[in-house]
Amino acid sequence: MEDPKEFTREELLRYNRQIMIPDIGEEGQRKIRDAKVFVAGIGGLGSISSYYLTAAGIGHLKIADKDKVEHSNLNRQIIHWTDDIGEWKSESSLRKLRGLNPHCCIEALQVEITEHNCLEIIGDCSIIVDAMDNMKTRRVLNAAAVKKKIPYIFGGVHQLDGMVSTFIPGKTPCLECVFPDDRQESASTPPGILGPVPGMIACIQVIEAVKLIVGLEGLLTGRLLSFCANDMTFREFKIKRNPECSVCGGIR
Ligand SMILES: [Zn+2]
Repeated sequence: MEDPKEFTREELLRYNRQIMIPDIGEEGQRKIRDAKVFVAGIGGLGSISSYYLTAAGIGHLKIADKDKVEHSNLNRQIIHWTDDIGEWKSESSLRKLRGLNPHCCIEALQVEITEHNCLEIIGDCSIIVDAMDNMKTRRVLNAAAVKKKIPYIFGGVHQLDGMVSTFIPGKTPCLECVFPDDRQESASTPPGILGPVPGMIACIQVIEAVKLIVGLEGLLTGRLLSFCANDMTFREFKIKRNPECSVCGGIR
């Protein structure tokens, strides 16, 4: 009988080019297959992160989005196509991801993430990939990550700029340490965004997720990486925990 822990010939071919990487190998690929990851939002960031995570062979991917596909999404949310306009983003993305990799178990939820349902939605996922477009929901995700003590990979974009960092509760700053809630945030007009900018930030988030899963060092922890497309520069800011942080202060 076939050992369910062994990869099929088809899987070995599919993942060959990443298994060839000494830092990953078959053992790393098995960790990727056994991983459960939550991607919050299937917009500009989530289109890319969910796609690459699925391509990489993440065993269990959970995705959630509350909206339907609109014309104005299509310059950057490339998992959604013209024919998908009017469809729930969760459904549109589920169809593409299943077509991409039938070995992944993908759960797509059409839901708004709130402080009331967040912990339940995350369930037993062990990594949160932030693909939201607002700080309010990010704060909800960050608080849930701290409560569950699971990594939260932050990403955000605005016009030609992007930011990304990996927050590990008890070890690194959390979102709240870096961006304290000043209660000034209100719903504003959505910013302009050049499609490849979220694409690039999401790629970095996926690399961080894979490194976390495989157990590689050199994570984007204690560092906020900022990308500026105007002058094509990456800048890195050292970030520290706030011992008085209202979310992670006192957590070990
Ligand atoms: Zn904190």
